[in-house]
Amino acid sequence: MAQAIVDVLVVTDLALIRDHTGGASRRFSFKGLIKGVTMSHLMNNYARLPIALSHGDGSWVTDTEGRIYLDALSGIAVSTLGHNHPVLVAAIAAQAGRILHSSNLYRMPQQEDLADKLATLSGMDEVFFCNSGCEANEAAIKLARFYGHKLGVENPSIIVMENAFHGRTMATLSATGNRKAQAGFEPLVTGFVRVPYNDMDAIRNVGEHNQSVVAVMLEVLQGEGGIRIADLDFQRELRQICDEKGWLLICDEVQCGMGRTGTWFGFQHAAIVPDVVTLAKGLGGGVPVGACIAGGKAAGLFGPGNHGSTFGGNQLATTAALTTIDVIEKDHLMANATTVGRLIREALGEALAGQSGVIDIRGQGLMIGIELDRPCGELVQRGLDAGVLINVTAERVVRLLPPLTFSAEEGRELVSRLAPLIVEFLSA
Ligand code: PLP
Repeated sequence: MAQAIVDVLVVTDLALIRDHTGGASRRFSFKGLIKGVTMSHLMNNYARLPIALSHGDGSWVTDTEGRIYLDALSGIAVSTLGHNHPVLVAAIAAQAGRILHSSNLYRMPQQEDLADKLATLSGMDEVFFCNSGCEANEAAIKLARFYGHKLGVENPSIIVMENAFHGRTMATLSATGNRKAQAGFEPLVTGFVRVPYNDMDAIRNVGEHNQSVVAVMLEVLQGEGGIRIADLDFQRELRQICDEKGWLLICDEVQCGMGRTGTWFGFQHAAIVPDVVTLAKGLGGGVPVGACIAGGKAAGLFGPGNHGSTFGGNQLATTAALTTIDVIEKDHLMANATTVGRLIREALGEALAGQSGVIDIRGQGLMIGIELDRPCGELVQRGLDAGVLINVTAERVVRLLPPLTFSAEEGRELVSRLAPLIVEFLSA
């Protein structure tokens, strides 16, 4: 980590810094310096915690100081198989020894195999590969607009939800239902109509008055928005209205997909099939890979030149994803997510029973939220002190996203570390 020792001089809300190594003075925001007097050349766009993880094994990670943590976050739903999984490590190493990347100018058998697999698992038709969740959602948004134009809709619109999170690129940020994330980046991309989550009447109302709607986009389980689940009836009615109106149903499964909720995809709990599904995070078990799956009326829309990505679905990424899926199947990790997720929620329920300040404990599989009655970001640092990696989202929701390999024993260990922290925090 490139770091420099600096003198910090606070000038109202700005800090003037003299860098001993280079001698140059630079201005930084006060907030960026508050945690210490070291600086790096990284852009200050993350509020990073003061640890660096050095290595991991299963659900356990060790930092550069030798401290060990139980990982109940898996890099925000990414390390599906935990850390250092021998099968994934071997597959990646073997692929790296053959070819990492060739470009989408050429066929890639691994990419074709992964597309076949995802089509089978989703009951859909075709896949575009990219590198991240926002990129998968960009593809979905472009697909919906393309579909609209083919139908003769001049300015196609997409219905999106309050509290949704779809990414940080301009289009996905505009689709995101979080004013704080959008502030300062206006003008936003137009063509999104926002409705409350789980509100069919609002969607019907938009449908009646807005002839430019061509799609609805939602997370069936909102992650960043605070682990909120779309009612199964709402999902089914949404499928129905999309069929009636000829709209595409786009499910953003970037966080809840790939087995995390106990099924391959969150929408499978409602027994529906969307027209477009986006994936990333857990798909490659830690190797960046995203996917936009299309089916039904969304299939066959793009032709050569309509969309692309240099790295998208290269041999390394698609090998990692194929291997991750294979291990999930062979080791019955979705069943594990269901069982261990239930165990964690029940154990939390017992440990926090009667505790004032706990509003709700909810989730599906290994996607769990504990909603408190007050902002609780400081629990993340307290978690580090207690040797557990957790996250807080939507200000008041403790979020747990452990690897799908998390054992029952690790689930109990997590609760025994976390519940006292929450009790102590709420009792202060
Ligand atoms: N969609 C959902 C549901 C997400 O949770 C996220 C990230 O948290 C994204 C999209 C954006 O993914 P990425 O950060 O890989 O661009």
